[in-house]
Order: sequence, then C-alpha cells, then structure tokens
Amino acid sequence: MSNPRAWRAKKRTTKPNARMKRNGLFLDAHPDCQRCANRPSREAHHELPKGNPARYEWQFMKALCTRCHTEEHQRLAALPVSSAK
Ligand SMILES: [Zn+2]
Ligand SMILES: [Zn+2]
Repeated sequence: MSNPRAWRAKKRTTKPNARMKRNGLFLDAHPDCQRCANRPSREAHHELPKGNPARYEWQFMKALCTRCHTEEHQRLAALPVSSAK
C-alpha cells in the first residue's frame, strides 16, 4: 500500500500556459517598451483580434509598458469601429 501522504506531498508545478509562455518570450526579445522606449516592457499587446490565427505572430504584437498598454487600449476604444484597420 502506498503512503497516502505521498501524493499530497507532491508539489504541483505552476506551469505558465502557452499564451503566457509566448508572451514571455516576446517580452524577453523586446525588453523596452515599443511605444515610449523609456520604460521596460511589461505586457504584450496584440493588434489583431481574438480568433485571428496571426494574432500571435510577433509582427502583430507590441511589447508595451503597463502605462502605454493602457493608453493604447484607450486610444483604440476611442476610435470609431468603422475606421479600425
Ligand atoms: Zn511605454
Ligand atoms: Zn493590448
């Protein structure tokens, strides 16, 4: 009989999901914010909407600091939908 505590003691690894891994690699490759270039990049911004298969292509991503990412989304939200590229 196996020790019932054995499986409890087993550490669960917290694996980052695939998306986080990809974003992490992207941010590693772009250490500085691509908008202001004054702050380190913290977040990956996707220029393509969810569901687009090219969403994770690096040419359609931007490495942004937290502030620029917020501003970018505010800018996008302010645009009329019809003029979105
Ligand atoms: Zn920035
Ligand atoms: Zn974004």
